[in-house]
Amino acid sequence: MVTNTEVKELGHFINNEIVAGLSGHFSDVFNPSSGAVIARVPIATKEEVQGAIATAKSAFPAWRALSVGKRVEIVMKFRQLMTARMDTLIDIICIESGKTIEDAKGEITRGLESVDLAINAPHLLKGDYSVNVGGDINAYSAKVPLGVVAAISPFNFPVMVPLAITSLAVAVGNSVILKPSERVPCSALFLSELWKEAGLPDGVWTVINGDKDAVNELLENPAVEAISFVGSTAVADYIYTTGSKYGKRVTALGGGKNNMIVMPDADLEQVANAFLGAAYGAASQRCMAISTIIPVGEETANNLVKVLADKISKLKVGPYTDSDVDFGPVITKQSKDAIIGYIDRSLEEGATLVCDGRHPDIAENSNGFYLGPTLLDNIKPGMEIYEQEVFGPARNVVRVDSLEEAIDLVNAHELGNGVTIFTNNGAAARKFTTEIDVGMVGVNVPIPIPVGYYNFAGWKRSRFGEGHMFGPDQVRFFTKTKTISEKWFEENSESVSTFAFPSN
Ligand code: NAD
Repeated sequence: MVTNTEVKELGHFINNEIVAGLSGHFSDVFNPSSGAVIARVPIATKEEVQGAIATAKSAFPAWRALSVGKRVEIVMKFRQLMTARMDTLIDIICIESGKTIEDAKGEITRGLESVDLAINAPHLLKGDYSVNVGGDINAYSAKVPLGVVAAISPFNFPVMVPLAITSLAVAVGNSVILKPSERVPCSALFLSELWKEAGLPDGVWTVINGDKDAVNELLENPAVEAISFVGSTAVADYIYTTGSKYGKRVTALGGGKNNMIVMPDADLEQVANAFLGAAYGAASQRCMAISTIIPVGEETANNLVKVLADKISKLKVGPYTDSDVDFGPVITKQSKDAIIGYIDRSLEEGATLVCDGRHPDIAENSNGFYLGPTLLDNIKPGMEIYEQEVFGPARNVVRVDSLEEAIDLVNAHELGNGVTIFTNNGAAARKFTTEIDVGMVGVNVPIPIPVGYYNFAGWKRSRFGEGHMFGPDQVRFFTKTKTISEKWFEENSESVSTFAFPSN
């Protein structure tokens, strides 16, 4: 485990052991709340990744051969250990990501939903069976694991996303290689220890740390059957294109630019309270964070901005160790500078600054990567801050005259992860849910992340490939279907040869 004061040299997790990196090349891991370096994570070479893949491949036949019930026993034990060690896991998440304790707890709880789904593997793996499809032949189908599958995760959910993209993969019988974000490797390494303690056989679970070179080896290596990626849109596009070129099954989830439409009949107090957490929670570093609020009508907009300005000015930013804070720092100094750049340029493009979070008080007394909440009014399509995903607490108000205009705006954007409407009008809500071109949709729900037993994925350039981050359809992604036609001859029965194409 990492503490606040030591700088630990991390390793990879291969064959159920932490192994030292061989490249001699490391990346610093920060505590974003203090700005201090807390660990150095090794950046794997191509050869190290190749070795990890070979280990995972050799573990696959025995893991596949184990009954699904026995595999799930290990997953259940893993779940139990996660719950028992929740406090340690929360500490690690908070230290390396800067999240608040409550937020880290929420992330773990949502991550456990994916583990729960994996515990359902015996049910999810059930195939079809038909008796006598013709000539006393019975037909059945079975879902079988793929082999070695790779998961590549982003920094913003150090535990939830790795769990979401690996738990079911393990339970259905694959060997899994996780390449976590080099910004938050400690959480993934801690999960590895829990898998080992739960009894997962050597080689079934691997964590390889690294950057794009490690990812490229996973994309190109013929022994890797599938890639499940979650991260920014540009990288997701690259992963999908490259992985597909090398003949792999790929799901690549990208960024989001999520909108909250506010109808004139909505209760603005409720709307504002919902917006605060959904927009600024986790310093807005969530793929489902609301980045743009779209009030319908001038009066709604004027009243809403007034209520928001008052509430936003009372938000508290600070380290996770302070139980009063609403959100913590952003992940790096570079990220902080990039967000300030977006705000500055939006002002040059004509935005109105309602709340300015560029220089929060805490930043004067700390080297942490803090930004306060910023709200920009009169944002218009075409402005950089409207078009780009800004992964930090700079949020937009876009004013429209009608629900139709709001729907058209949302549908025209290239990203389509999440969207929500706040209204008391059922007909407006129905029109919105029917016509909106986005993967995850809310009605009076600020962050419409589906529960673990529903499928999670955006549309448009928020997702490349047909898979999901979690949910029951994920079982299709991590298995292939074998369909068997089977006949048994009775003793002395006649066998005939036919040259016609077989039919029923
Ligand atoms: P990122 O794309 O920079 O990194 C994601 C992973 O890809 C990391 O493991 C990283 O090491 C690797 N990577 C980075 N550049 C690469 C390259 N050029 N080639 C190969 N691999 C590369 O994303 P991030 O900054 O860690 O995470 C934030 C992003 O993730 C945001 O855009 C957010 O919206 C998105 N996200 C999306 C979802 C979703 O469900 N759609 C969920 C969480 C986060």
